[in-house]
Amino acid sequence: MPGLLDAAITRALPLLPKPVVWRVARRYIAGTRREDALGTIGRLNAAGMVATVDLLGEHARDPAEADAAVAEYAEVLREIRRGNLRSNISVKLTHFGLKTDAAGCERRMRGLLEEARSLGNFVRIDMEDSSCTDATLALYRRLRSDFENVGPVLQAYLRRTPEDARSLLGGPPLNVRICKGIYREPPEIAWKAHDEINRNYLLVLEALLNGGASVGCATHDEPLAEAAIAMARRLRISPERFECQMLLGVREDLSARLEASGQRVRIYVPYGEEWHAYSIRRLRENPRIARYVLRALFR
Ligand SMILES: Cc1cc2nc3c(=O)[nH]c(=O)nc-3n(C[C@H](O)[C@H](O)[C@H](O)COP(=O)(O)OP(=O)(O)OC[C@H]3O[C@@H](n4cnc5c(N)ncnc54)[C@H](O)[C@@H]3O)c2cc1C
Repeated sequence: MPGLLDAAITRALPLLPKPVVWRVARRYIAGTRREDALGTIGRLNAAGMVATVDLLGEHARDPAEADAAVAEYAEVLREIRRGNLRSNISVKLTHFGLKTDAAGCERRMRGLLEEARSLGNFVRIDMEDSSCTDATLALYRRLRSDFENVGPVLQAYLRRTPEDARSLLGGPPLNVRICKGIYREPPEIAWKAHDEINRNYLLVLEALLNGGASVGCATHDEPLAEAAIAMARRLRISPERFECQMLLGVREDLSARLEASGQRVRIYVPYGEEWHAYSIRRLRENPRIARYVLRALFR
């Protein structure tokens, strides 16, 4: 019964009033303002964890919106430096105009990477849906030939990922995040079953670690995280080449436990006014969605 209810509520999520979604999704978002994100990073740092900040938003509607996103990220980088915080940033290329103005997107990324480099920081390029994969990896390669402080994300659910990993390892030293992948992709291009995705995840992870990459292992799947940590130990990967990554508000028990065991943990900290689409994606992944939504509705 809870399974059916969870499925029904998951389907109805886009129809829920925004204030209800906000109440349920609040724990996944640092807040709407830059200060909220900086405060959250400070708290995570104090608890021994590092962070990566995401200004929520994707698919910029016009150049002004893309420019504003870059300017906000640049300010975040400066604040991170001013506050001596331990955090880098995560960006989505469609937020900078990838689909509408590819040249502008590249120019904006180059500007941001210059700024990050001058502040000794790093920019992670999140991976979006499969219509962006080729353009994202191509732009990453061009940027990586001029900047060391940039890294891509690979999604274990995509069938093409082992080949992408091989090809990226053939280039300059690679700093990559691996995750399962969040978008709805057709079975022709994506594994669908949990076990297949996890098998691909570990195969790609092993290739990346053996190939000399620095890897951020993003997952809340406890057995998968444990297997990844065991693999890094078995391959004698130095601590600066391997970290676990999790999303704000998800499996905080697990991130705290891993941190306490000496494992480096990075928390993804999203903030901003554009919290709705991200929140819906997170809620869809919550196995106890019905409980949370019903509690918020009747409170
Ligand atoms: C740091 C980080 C960065 C990411 N970057 C990207 C990216 O660039 N591109 C991309 O496509 N995807 C990205 N993702 C999302 C990722 O692809 C998965 O969709 C997401 O992490 C869920 O997969 P999982 O590995 O946690 O395993 P799952 O099998 O989905 O989840 C494992 C367990 O975690 C718990 N859990 C997971 N999600 C929730 C939730 N929302 N609420 C409560 N419990 C939950 C549940 O107990 C679940 O059983 C990122 C994830 C992380 C952690």
